Amino acid sequence: MTTKAQKLGDWGEKQVAKLIPCPNCDAMKLRVLRNSFPSLDLICGNCATYMAQVKTVDLKSKPDVRPKTIPGAGWKPLETQIARGVLRDLYVVGAQRTPRSFKLVWIDRVPGNVLLANAQIFVRRMADIKSKDRKHPMFSIMYSQLPESSIERVFQGPPLR
Ligand SMILES: [Zn+2]
Repeated sequence: MTTKAQKLGDWGEKQVAKLIPCPNCDAMKLRVLRNSFPSLDLICGNCATYMAQVKTVDLKSKPDVRPKTIPGAGWKPLETQIARGVLRDLYVVGAQRTPRSFKLVWIDRVPGNVLLANAQIFVRRMADIKSKDRKHPMFSIMYSQLPESSIERVFQGPPLR
């Protein structure tokens, strides 16, 4: 079964793939990876050297405000990536719900080297895993703590009013 959050996440990945060219080779060939890789959502089908992760946020009634925190995924893979200095670019997709789907408002890109230089924005938290009745280490992204100048707005559309 697909949860609401998964639906929003899948939709956001498709928006980036549809609208954003690969920063390495300029081809419009970003493809959505199946959900089996931690923190990897897109790969370039042309150069195959570019991979990225995507987080999609529901902006609700504040389309012009960057979210304070964004829920991340498992802490362990992130910790390894930071230790090895291999963080991929992060796309943050700002969306608003419509009666049947979502409306795209903006897309930000944060380069992986910027994430590494600001790794304190990744905060560890313990989350409940419902199916397993135990807590699991996850991370949150303190998105509003990133310097404004380090975020590229790669798409901007009109919000719902
Ligand atoms: Zn490419």
